Amino acid sequence: MSSARAFYSPRQKVHHRDRGCGAGQTLAPEELRAGTGGKDLCPECAELARAKNGGLFEHVCLEPQQTVR
Ligand SMILES: [Zn+2]
Repeated sequence: MSSARAFYSPRQKVHHRDRGCGAGQTLAPEELRAGTGGKDLCPECAELARAKNGGLFEHVCLEPQQTVR
């Protein structure tokens, strides 16, 4: 349901939350770990989130907002 599942690689100093992140896409499947690993959020993922939903990852987990026309 959520597309904001955190993942990281022990090789990197940051964790990712956006599958569209260029740095996240360079990771090999076998080195991916679920969660944040206690690492800071990747700046590129933060920027992607800001563009998509105002920078609040929590919004991704909520019901889509109904548009009143
Ligand atoms: Zn990232």
